[in-house]
Amino acid sequence: MAYIQGEPRNQTSLFPVSIDELIPADHLVRVIDAYVARIDLKVLGFDRSEPKVNGRPPYNPADLLKLYLYGYFYQIRSSRRLEAECQRNVEVMWLLNRLAPDFKTIADFRRDNTVAFSATCRAFVQFCRGAGLVKGDLVAIDGSKFRAVASNRRHVSIKHLKRDLEKLDQRIARYLASLDESDENESAEKIDTNKVKEALSRLQSKRANNLTGQALMEELGLSQIIVGEDEAKMMRAPQGNFAGYNVQSAVDEEHGLIVHHEVTQDSDDRRQLAPMATAVQQVLDQEDVTVTADAGYSNGEQFQACDDAGITAIVPLNRENRSAENALFPQAEFKYDPETDSYRCPAGQVLILKSINKGSANYHAQASACGGCALKGSCTRARHRTLKRHPNEAAFERMTKRLNANPDMMLRRKSTVEHPFGNLKQWALGTGRFLLRQLQGAKAEMALAVTSYNLKRTINILGTRRLLEMLA
Ligand code: SF4
Repeated sequence: MAYIQGEPRNQTSLFPVSIDELIPADHLVRVIDAYVARIDLKVLGFDRSEPKVNGRPPYNPADLLKLYLYGYFYQIRSSRRLEAECQRNVEVMWLLNRLAPDFKTIADFRRDNTVAFSATCRAFVQFCRGAGLVKGDLVAIDGSKFRAVASNRRHVSIKHLKRDLEKLDQRIARYLASLDESDENESAEKIDTNKVKEALSRLQSKRANNLTGQALMEELGLSQIIVGEDEAKMMRAPQGNFAGYNVQSAVDEEHGLIVHHEVTQDSDDRRQLAPMATAVQQVLDQEDVTVTADAGYSNGEQFQACDDAGITAIVPLNRENRSAENALFPQAEFKYDPETDSYRCPAGQVLILKSINKGSANYHAQASACGGCALKGSCTRARHRTLKRHPNEAAFERMTKRLNANPDMMLRRKSTVEHPFGNLKQWALGTGRFLLRQLQGAKAEMALAVTSYNLKRTINILGTRRLLEMLA
């Protein structure tokens, strides 16, 4: 029995098939082509968005942008792999009209247009907003750590250098002692003094390098540095610390589209709530914004900054129970009176302001009142109950009220924001590791990854045909 046969390779055709006929009408490349055709590359800040009058004509930035959007959509991020796709992939041939730029041209384009990629990402969010896909009713903020192009062994800190210096000094002292012993006591075990001197010289040279490194870092005001990727920082993560960046993203609840993202060097999410929320206000051009985040964002100053900017933030509090050891009633059981700047305890006694330390106010109950109180066993084991009020306590109290009024908010946050991050790490960025060095490189890659993610979401929501109609 015969097998299914293909077409003979050398067969010619009376009516040759065009590349366009090979690309289905609802293919992704048609969406990328239509989207790039409708954006103004000059306004977005792309290099060479106007062709030169003289000299060799450059590649059109629109073609290279299309290539990168396609690449990040299919996890092809390396410039050499993109060069290969131009030569063998019919979809890319269609998208670029059979242009085949070399890898250096492709890599230079990404390196030179980092800011323009972020603008392109924002432009796509604006398109989604205009298409009614971004409502802006609730935006969930979250952060995730992405690895930089550096191994942990390249991490140097003043603390490590000082520890190494101590060890070097101990080794040098041991070698010197053995040399002295050999000189003074002829009956001592014979050592090869030449070898010891060589080893000593190597250690002295390491010691000099160590001291130079410490001096340089101190002069530059650095406490740590990743050699070769000096803008990356050590990030704390459940799987262990690594050199990388902390990527913040704000996701709209309606369809899970990322409305804003930021690549930061700060490992801690506690300083990110207000900057992200105000950026969302600007992107959505909407004053009245409600944002939510997990307890890692709990910070009184940030809560106050959101309140001041008219942003409704809903974030669980992450506060240590400072009085857990000697008090049993939580602070929430005490009612604060802003008029008299005092607290009233569950037994109706007043706790008055006693002192202010680093912005925190301390309130004390009268020892005589506590001494005769029937509730003392449930309140304090000290002579009298004390309370500490944070400088932004009012913001914490407002946050507690909002949390109590929205008991399902953490569930909504989780279902909104965690899916996009999983996708970005595994789908768009493959291993969750950047390919480009330094902050600008990481920003360029993240902007392309987020644009591709949003494009994919939009196709899933609307379907390719509907999206193509809207882009026309
Ligand atoms: S122990 Fe003092 S502070 Fe506590 S409930 Fe009694 S009177 Fe109030």
